[in-house]
Parts: sequence; structure tokens; C-alpha cells
Amino acid sequence: MAQKVSVDISRRNRGEVLKGAESCPQCSQLLTAEELEENYRVCRHCGHHFRVTARERVAQLADTGTWSEIAANLRSADPLDFFDLRPYPERVEEAEYDTGLPEAMLTGTARIHKMEVVLAVMDFQFLGGSMGSVVGEKFWRAAETAIETRVPLAVVCASGGARMQEGILSLLQMAKTTCAVELMAQVPVPFVSVLTHPTTGGVLASFATLSDVVIAEPGAFLSFAGPRIIEQTIKEKLPEGFGLAESNVEHGQVDMIIPRSELKDRLVQILGMLEGGVACALEPLWEEEESRPGRRGAFAEAIGRIKSLANPSRRPPKR
Ligand SMILES: [Zn+2]
Repeated sequence: MAQKVSVDISRRNRGEVLKGAESCPQCSQLLTAEELEENYRVCRHCGHHFRVTARERVAQLADTGTWSEIAANLRSADPLDFFDLRPYPERVEEAEYDTGLPEAMLTGTARIHKMEVVLAVMDFQFLGGSMGSVVGEKFWRAAETAIETRVPLAVVCASGGARMQEGILSLLQMAKTTCAVELMAQVPVPFVSVLTHPTTGGVLASFATLSDVVIAEPGAFLSFAGPRIIEQTIKEKLPEGFGLAESNVEHGQVDMIIPRSELKDRLVQILGMLEGGVACALEPLWEEEESRPGRRGAFAEAIGRIKSLANPSRRPPKR
């Protein structure tokens, strides 16, 4: 009798433990939901970085209670009356229901270790993190807030590229977000991007890689197109590890790789150094137009310094 009771309890416990557990795609170890949450959704056995939702990312980066959303009410329209197997608005509605998000990007202001930051975070679960008109507009408004308040912008990317259901309007967002980046550079306002798995297509080819400092998570796939498409186009076999964050660092597309557990601390350090560069660049305040090239120069020097600290092999030659 006693033995039967003990079996029942162990079964119930096992069920509770397995609820929400996930198997690591890299090392096949089973990880409980608690283990994953405690370790920033990184496998404690092999370091594999699991995907995180936009809200989880905000919770990981922002100081508790400091997040305030920007442009929360923007919703996709259907200007092309697009229908593939299903109407586009139906797909958007389903994505909203599945993710609890209004769009593939969350934008807002927050404090990170007490530092004020404008934060834009993409969510791959919302239609593959695709960039349609709303994502472009949200990025624009985040940049606008950064410029108006002179607060740095950090963006965390995860995207399959442009949103095909919005056709050319989606591709236009590449130009629009690129303009927003240029406006930030003119002030200057620091802008840092974090590329997570996967960041591809139109997002990679626009704002994601135009930032002052480009950070990537370990093992993230970052490429304009998938390896199979590239191989079919150039009719050549691609090298092993093509498109991974590590290969992007080697080839200079990405400045540094930061493990998720260190991201909050390192991000604030980098933004702090850039802010320092801005402070030098803005000195003296009373010299306006004629000192503009000098101001840009001091900011560029701060960016160069961060990049060389992250990657000594790319240190600029001494003058
Ligand atoms: Zn693992």
C-alpha cells in the first residue's frame, strides 16, 4: 500500500517537472522550464541559446518596473488586399493570438542598470519576425524618441526578412529604417544592435547591420539568404559555419559576440562608452555648424575604440 502511494507521488512530480521542459537541439539534454528561465534560456550543458520572445527579452534587459511602451497601438493594414492560402489579416490576427503581441517588434523606453535607453525588440514567433510597414514605423518612432530625448537606442533583432504579404511596401521599410539610422548618426545618438538567431533578409540588410556597434549572440545564423539558395545561385559549396555569428565576426560584418548571460552588463558598458563619445563630440556646445565635422569625428573615435577593444586584431594603426 505504502509503495503504491510513493509511486503515485513520483509520477505526479515527474509530470510537473516535465511540464514546459524542452530538449536541447544541440546536445539533446532535457531542460526544465525553471532551469531555462534561470539561465536566460541558454542550455547549461552546451551553451545553446534558445529563442526568447520579445517580452522575455525586455524582462531580461530592462530594470524591473521601468519599461514603458511606445507606439503600442499600431496595427498592420492590408493595403494590397493580399491573399495566399488565407487572407493576410487572418494571419496577423492568428500571430497576435499566438504571441500576445500587436506586431513583430516591441518598442519602448526602459532603464538598463539605471541607464535610460530606448529599446526595440523583435519577436520571431510573430510571422517570422518579418518587417512590414508597422515594424518599419515602430523602428522609426523608436529612433525619433532617441533623437528627441538624446537617449541611446538598442535594438534586438530576430527576423526572416521582409513581409511578403505587404510586397513593395515591406521593401520600402529598408529605405525608411536606413534614413532613421542616418538621422541618429547626424545628432549623434548612440545606436547598438544585437543580432539573434536568426537575423536575415531585409532586416539584416538595413538597420540591423547599420548600427554604431553590431553585437551577435553565439551560434546565431546571420545571412541575407539561406545557404541552400546561395549555393544554388553561385553553384559552389559554402564553407562550414557559413552565416554563423562566429564567421560574421571573422569577416568583419559583426563587431563582437556576447553570451546572453553577459548581455545586460556589456550592453550598458558599450552604450556608456558611446555616450562618453557623444559628450566629447558635443563639446563645446556654443560652436554650432562649423564644429559639426569635429563632433562627428569624436563620436566615430569612440565607436572605433569599442570595436578595437572587442576585436584587437582590427585595432587601427597608431598615428
Ligand atoms: Zn545543450
